[in-house]
Amino acid sequence: MIHTVLDILKIREDFPILKRKVNGQNLVYFDNAATSQTPKHVIDVIVDYYSNYNANIHRGVHALSQEATDKYEEARIKIQTHFNAAASHEIIFTSGTTHAINIVANGFTSFLKKGDEVLVSAMEHHSNIVPWQMLCERTGATMKVIPMNLDGELLMDKYHALLSNKTKLVFCNHVSNALGTINPIQEIIEAAHAVGAAVLIDGAQAAPHIIADVQALDVDFYTVSAHKICGPTGVGILYGKEAWLNKLPPYQGGGEMIAEVTFEKTTYAGLPHKFEAGTPNICGGIAMGAGLDYMNSIGFDAITTYEHELLAYATEKLLEIEGLKIYGTAKNKTAVVSFNVGQIHPYDIGSILDKLGVAVRTGHHCAQPIMDFFKIPGTVRASFSFYNLKEEIDVLVAGVKRAKAMLS
Ligand code: PMP
Repeated sequence: MIHTVLDILKIREDFPILKRKVNGQNLVYFDNAATSQTPKHVIDVIVDYYSNYNANIHRGVHALSQEATDKYEEARIKIQTHFNAAASHEIIFTSGTTHAINIVANGFTSFLKKGDEVLVSAMEHHSNIVPWQMLCERTGATMKVIPMNLDGELLMDKYHALLSNKTKLVFCNHVSNALGTINPIQEIIEAAHAVGAAVLIDGAQAAPHIIADVQALDVDFYTVSAHKICGPTGVGILYGKEAWLNKLPPYQGGGEMIAEVTFEKTTYAGLPHKFEAGTPNICGGIAMGAGLDYMNSIGFDAITTYEHELLAYATEKLLEIEGLKIYGTAKNKTAVVSFNVGQIHPYDIGSILDKLGVAVRTGHHCAQPIMDFFKIPGTVRASFSFYNLKEEIDVLVAGVKRAKAMLS
C-alpha cells in the first residue's frame, strides 16, 4: 500500500505532457533518470522570458538586458542557496554535467604529471570517465578504479587501500544512473582530503532526489544538469570551491570571460565569468532556477519518501516475474530499477513496452563498464519520479509479463 502526503493526481496536473497518448495508450513515463518532465510553472517561465524580456545579459544598459541579467543572476543565487554554496560566484552555469566535468578535467592539465594517480568509481557515466582519460593521456597520470560488489556498492576498504600521496583527484557519482546506488560520498571526500586529493562528485542523478549541501560535504566540485530536475535541457552548473576555481585556468576563451583584451595579452574576468565564455543559455539558467523552485515547493523529503515507496513496490512486483533479475541491489538506492528477463534482449522488451505507452530506457545507459562488470549487453531501466503512480507500475509489470510471453 502506498501512503503519501503528496496529492499526486494534483501534481500530475502541473505536467501537460503526462496527459498525452503514445501509440494510442496513456503515456507511462519511466525514463526520468534520462530527463525529467517539465512542469507548467517552468514552461511559463520560458514563455515569459521569450515573450517579455529576451535580451543578452551583462553588457546592455537597456531595460530588457538589465531585466534578463537580474533574473539570470537571481537564478544563480537560488541555485547557490539550494546547494548551500558559500558564494554565488562558486556556481558556474554550464551546458550540463558533461560540460561541468570537462571544465575541471581540462583545468587540471597543468596540475598533474606522470606518476600521479586519479581514482574513478566502477559505476560511472561515460561523462565522468572519458574527460579524465583524456586528462591522463595529456599528463601521463594513471587512472585507477574503485571496484564494486555484485549489489552495485563500492568496496570502501579497497578505496581506502587505493588512496596514497600519489592520489591527486577522486571522481565519483553521488548516485549511479544505471544502478541507482547512493554512494557514501561523505566518506569518499574525507578520505581523499586526508591524502591531499581533490574530489569531484557528479550529482546529475542525485539532484532529483537529494539536496547536497556542498559546504557540509566539503566537496571541491559538484555537478548538476537542469533537465533532470524539472528544468530544460542544455543547462546545468558546476559548483567549485572558490579557491579551486581561482586556481583553474579558463576552459574556453571568448566574450564575457575577459577583463581586458589587447593583441598582446588578455586578462581574465573574475568568478564566475571566467568560466562562462560567450552568450550563455540565459533562459535555460532562469528556468533551471524555476525547476528548483517547483521541486522545493513540493519538498524533497516528501519526494524522497514517496519515490522510495514506488521503488519498493516496483521491486516487489517485478521480482514476481520468473527469470527477472535486477541489477543494482544496494541497500542505499534511489528510484531506479535496472533489469533483464532471462536471455531476452533489453531492446526487445523496451520496444514492446513502447507499444504499450511505457517509456523506459534500454541499453548500456552510457555506463558500459558496468555492463561489462555484469557481463550483459545492457538492461531495461525504469526510473521513477514523484509524479508517477503505483498504477503505472502495474502497467509496466503487465507489459513486461506480456513481452516475456511474446519473446520467450
Ligand atoms: N552523469 C550521470 C550520472 C548522468 O546520469 C548523466 C546524464 N545521463 C550525466 C552525467 C551527463 O549529463 P548531461 O548529459 O546532462 O551532461
